[in-house]
Amino acid sequence: MIKDFEYLTPKTLKEALTLLDKYKDEGKVIAGGQSLLILMRQGLVAPPYLIDIKGLSELSYIKEAKEGLKIGALTTHRAIEKSPVIKKKFSVLAEMEERLASIQTRNWGTIGGNICHADPAGDPIPVLIVLNATLTTAGLKGERKIAVEDFCRDYFETALEPGELLTEIFVPPSPPRTGAAYTKFNVIESDLATVGVAVSVTLGAGDGVCQDIRIALGASAPTPMRAKKAEAVLKGKKVTDNLLKEAGEVASTEAEPISDIYASEEYRRELVKVLVARVAKEASARAKSA
Ligand SMILES: Cc1cc2nc3c(=O)[nH]c(=O)nc-3n(C[C@H](O)[C@H](O)[C@H](O)COP(=O)(O)OP(=O)(O)OC[C@H]3O[C@@H](n4cnc5c(N)ncnc54)[C@H](O)[C@@H]3O)c2cc1C
Repeated sequence: MIKDFEYLTPKTLKEALTLLDKYKDEGKVIAGGQSLLILMRQGLVAPPYLIDIKGLSELSYIKEAKEGLKIGALTTHRAIEKSPVIKKKFSVLAEMEERLASIQTRNWGTIGGNICHADPAGDPIPVLIVLNATLTTAGLKGERKIAVEDFCRDYFETALEPGELLTEIFVPPSPPRTGAAYTKFNVIESDLATVGVAVSVTLGAGDGVCQDIRIALGASAPTPMRAKKAEAVLKGKKVTDNLLKEAGEVASTEAEPISDIYASEEYRRELVKVLVARVAKEASARAKSA
C-alpha cells in the first residue's frame, strides 16, 4: 500500500527547485511515475512530499541546434521515438525507444525519469553513452553539466545532488563516417534488458580503419558501463570478423554481471560476448554508409 503523502504541483522550474530545496530529503520528484510508483507501492520509497513536475512544459522539448540535439528531461519516450529529426539524424535513439516498454509506458514515461531512476537494465543510458551525451542539472545554486557516462554512481544511484533536477540531455552531432546501433536481449517483449549493448563506430576516410569506438553495456554491472578493453581491441584497426569476435570475448570478461531471476551471470557473459560482436558489426556497417 502507498503511504500518505502531500502532493505538490509546481508551475515553474524555479518553483519546483524551491520546493525541492525546502523539503530536502523528505521531498521526492515524480515525472511520469512509471518507475517511482512501483517503488512506492512496494514500500521501498515513502516520501512525505511528492513534487509533480510532469506539468512543467518548459522541460518538454526536442530541439536541433547547430551544436547538437537538445532534449528536455520531461520529453516522453514516445515523442523521442516519433521525432522526425531524431529518426533522421540520431536514428539509434528512436530505434532504442521503439523497444522500450509498451506504447502506454512510452506515452507517459519521460527520458529524464528513466535516466534518474538509473536502472542498470534501462535502455536509454547505454545509447546516450555511445552518443557521448551530456546532462544538465539545475538547482537553486545553478546548473551543472555531467557526462552521461559519469552520471550513474551505483545500483540505482546517480550523481544528482539533493535539491537538483535533471533538466536537459544534450547529444553532440556525430563525426563523419560514424554509425551507431543498439540491441537488447529480453525474454518478454517490451520488458527491460537481460543484457543491452550499444556501440558507436567512426571509420577513417577511405581506409575503413576504426578511428573511434564506444561500447556501452546495460544489465551487465551495477551501472551501465563502457567496455573500454573491448574498445581497445578494435580501435586503430580495420574491423574484421575475427577482431569483432575478440572484442566480444574481451567485453564478456570486463562485464560484471550478476545472477538473478532472469539470467545467470554466465548466461549474461555469453550474451555480452555475442551481442557486442553483432552490434559492433552493425555499427561498422552503418558507419560505412554514413
Ligand atoms: C511495464 C514497464 C515496462 C518497462 N520497460 C522498460 C524497458 O523496457 N526499458 C527501460 O529502459 N525502462 C523500462 N521501464 C521503466 C520506465 O519506462 C522508465 O523508467 C520511465 O520512463 C521513468 O520515467 P518517469 O517519467 O515515469 O519517471 P518517474 O517514475 O516519475 O521517476 C523515476 C525516478 O526519477 C526521478 N526523476 C524523474 N524525473 C526527474 C528529473 N527531471 N530530475 C531528477 N529526478 C527525476 C524520480 O524522483 C524517481 O526517482 C518500464 C516500466 C514499466 C512500468
